[in-house]
Amino acid sequence: MKKYLPFVCFKCRTSFLRARDLHRDKATCPYCSHQAVRYHPDVELPDKSDEVQWQVLEFLRDHGFYYQPVYNDISLGGLMFVAYPKNMEEAEVFVKKYKRWAENR
Ligand SMILES: [Zn+2]
Repeated sequence: MKKYLPFVCFKCRTSFLRARDLHRDKATCPYCSHQAVRYHPDVELPDKSDEVQWQVLEFLRDHGFYYQPVYNDISLGGLMFVAYPKNMEEAEVFVKKYKRWAENR
C-alpha cells in the first residue's frame, strides 16, 4: 500500500503527493493555491501542452474517474482490468459503460 497519494491540479497541470488519507479528496495546490483532487497512484499525467489528453483527464474526472481500477465482468465470474481511454470518443463510451465504478470526490 502506498504511503503517499497523488493530487492533480488542473490549473498547473501538475501533481503533488500527500500522506495517504482516503477521507481527504481535495488539497490546496502548493504552486497556485487552487484546489487539487486526489488520484489513484496509477494516474499518468499528460505533457502540459497536450490539450487533448488533459481534456480527456478532465472529462473522466467530471464523471468520477480518478484512475481507480475499473473492471469488466467476464463470463466465468471473474473481473478483467480495463485500460483508461486515451481520446474523447473512447472516454465518452467509457464513462457510460463503467458508470458503476465511478467515485464521488
Ligand atoms: Zn496548481
